[in-house]
Formats: sequence, C-alpha cells, structure tokens
Amino acid sequence: MTAFHWHDHHFINRQAALDFANMVVWRGQSGREQDRGRSPENLAAWAAFGDLPSPVSSVDRCVEVREAIDGFFRAGTGWPLLVSLYAETLNRDRDPFLSTILHQAMALAFSPDAKRVRVCGNCGWLFIDRTRNANKRWCIAGLCGSRTKARRYYARKKQQLSAST
Ligand SMILES: [Zn+2]
Repeated sequence: MTAFHWHDHHFINRQAALDFANMVVWRGQSGREQDRGRSPENLAAWAAFGDLPSPVSSVDRCVEVREAIDGFFRAGTGWPLLVSLYAETLNRDRDPFLSTILHQAMALAFSPDAKRVRVCGNCGWLFIDRTRNANKRWCIAGLCGSRTKARRYYARKKQQLSAST
C-alpha cells in the first residue's frame, strides 16, 4: 500500500497538534469524511514530511491521541483525557512522535493562541486565526473560501433556473 501524498498545505498551522488533527478532512460530514491517518504508512509519511520522529505506537493509539486533541481544540471537551494521555506518553510509551505532538498540544492549550483556534467552514480543519479582527472563516481562503463561494453561486444559479422553468 502506498502512502498518502502529504503536501505543505496539510501543515497549514505549523503546529504539530492541530496539523495532526487535520489528518481527518470534512470531519463529521456524512459520506465525505476522510481519515488519512488510519495506516502506519500514512502516519510514517506524515511524520517524515513534518520533520517529526517516526511513530512507534500503534495506529489505534495514534488515532486515540489525535481524537483527544481534536475534541479539545474543536469543542473544548476532554481536557482530563488529554492531560492523562500526555502523562502516560511521557511515562510509559516512550514514543517521541506522540510525546512531541502531545507536548505541542499542551503548549498550545496554555498559549494565547488557544483562544484563536477555529474550525474551517468548508473542510472542517482546525486553524489558528491570527487576523487582527479574529474573523477568519476558512483555513485557506484561496481554497476553502473560493470553493464555498462557488458552491453558493451554483446553488443560486440552480434556484434561478428552477424558478424560471
Ligand atoms: Zn478549509
């Protein structure tokens, strides 16, 4: 099985914890959700691309950690779980991949950027909104913003069409 081809834009945050959560795209959108982190090959390729240590833990463990990170930054839930995963990883797992990511999750949680984590209105990715007005709606405006606009445009066209026929 060949690994998924990761690109720069899969690391939009330059923040390992959030970029790790973004291995899932269109999260929660039925029929569309894609999880690119469900194979050891994809995880290893992602780690290499992001200049992180190679994962040692199982895919299931990586997914467990990733979902805890996502839950906390997306919905503000699961703080005790995140803390305990961090403690376990430091004490037992000795997986530099997961401990690096969990360390970055902790660092972000205690930084002012924590309040600036947003969910993209199109693809569902987590991103840090560094705009002055804190009103950024899409992870990458040129990609997700324009796709959303195009969808609205076509929906409007379709409506006009059905209204005139
Ligand atoms: Zn997006």
